[in-house]
Amino acid sequence: MSSTNSADSRTEKDAAKREDDEVLHRDPSYFQYYSQLQHQQNMLQDHVRTSAYHSAITFNGPSLFRDRLVMDVGAGSGILSFFAAQAGAKHIYAVEASGMAQKMEIMLRSAKATGASGSPRNAYLADRITIVSSKIEEPALVAQVPQVDVVISEPIGVLLVHERMLESYVYARDKFLRPGGAMLPSAGTIHLAPLSDAALWNETIGKARFWQQESFYGVDVNPYFAPSFDEYFSSPVVGCFSPTTLMADSVVHEVDFHTVTMSELKEFVVPVEWSIRYTGVMHGVAGWFDLAFVPPASSLHAGMSPSAVYMSTGPHSPATHWQQVRMLLKQPLGVNAGQVVRGAVLMKVNDQRSYDVSARLIVLDAEESAGVSDEALLRMFDTHKSRTREALWYLHEQIYNYAYAGEPLEQVRPEAANLYLPVDALLAESAQGGGATMEVQGIPGSLTDFVVKTSQAPSMQM
Ligand code: SAH
Repeated sequence: MSSTNSADSRTEKDAAKREDDEVLHRDPSYFQYYSQLQHQQNMLQDHVRTSAYHSAITFNGPSLFRDRLVMDVGAGSGILSFFAAQAGAKHIYAVEASGMAQKMEIMLRSAKATGASGSPRNAYLADRITIVSSKIEEPALVAQVPQVDVVISEPIGVLLVHERMLESYVYARDKFLRPGGAMLPSAGTIHLAPLSDAALWNETIGKARFWQQESFYGVDVNPYFAPSFDEYFSSPVVGCFSPTTLMADSVVHEVDFHTVTMSELKEFVVPVEWSIRYTGVMHGVAGWFDLAFVPPASSLHAGMSPSAVYMSTGPHSPATHWQQVRMLLKQPLGVNAGQVVRGAVLMKVNDQRSYDVSARLIVLDAEESAGVSDEALLRMFDTHKSRTREALWYLHEQIYNYAYAGEPLEQVRPEAANLYLPVDALLAESAQGGGATMEVQGIPGSLTDFVVKTSQAPSMQM
């Protein structure tokens, strides 16, 4: 642990360096990445992200931060600590395991600089921040850092949970947050929705098919096709996409940062029940998350009310550096509007600072789905094989796809994504138009017995 007061002390600096080296040794590439200002900059320049945090801290300045003790878990450039200081916090403990801890010290030294170098920069930071150059999980910290009123952090990865830093956030809550204190952000919500994206599926199989060549410089590389197919289709594609490729409303899984336990973070199930809106081909599952910043009443100064701030990284919202994810099925699934896709997605931590994401899905007619018990549903996975799909994705094996940059208006109709509305819904879009409506008469005794009437043309026999 190093602090502004002890920054000049050589022995303490050496100790901090040794500690930091040890942390780097344990998790070298992760903390090496965050020690670089260019990666901190990438996050700061995500305007949606930074302004959500700025609003959440600033709007809750008088009610929550003023005269309070704050901990910033994974402070990075220190930006959230600086916002907390602006919002009137009494003292902030900025915990950072990467080399950014040392870089933050430059910032705090400049808050005290005087003399020929001119007036100090950010003078309001002087003596308000203690830099803790350590992993939050370092056992010695418990004796060195007091209980705080507010824990702030940006521990969020792709699909909320990638990087597994939420575990550090929850650890900080359990060790350092006073009872009734506030976590900002206060909750995250994972969204999962069925996706139709033929272009992405074709692009992905196209990459795997490279390995189907029988004479690549005279070498038959076919034996690599199957493992390559596995690899591509277990790799989530990180990038933004059009919301018109979604076939149903998302299902959600909420993680309440005030109450979630470590074991609930390590393994959880998202039950799936998607009411399919369009007839089309489901190529995979799309995912994103929202964040909520709502301090609990127990954490506020007497008589004050909270300012709630929300942020979405979904395809309907402005893009963020997290983008969204698309996870493809090896075999697409045909579904009709009105059907229901049921099943579950299981998210389980792995040792790659990420999650294994597995899915079991089945298509049912709405009537079948309405009455089905969990046991019956499970049995149907065995008896209705052609309607089921299973998949396993590794959230750390991310492929980036930056191709999408918004679409002209005429292309945002669902059929541009090969998704087809039921006829009734299509007609309802322009109900005032009074177009021809079609009515099927009677229950046919045989397949050729249909009588179709239109409101404009005379009855016709089919
Ligand atoms: N709070 C900054 C940086 C967020 S990035 C901002 O909002 O811009 C997450 C930061 O947390 C990284 O700098 C990373 O090095 C740090 N970090 C991750 N796990 C940590 C841990 N267990 N202990 C301390 N710092 C950690």
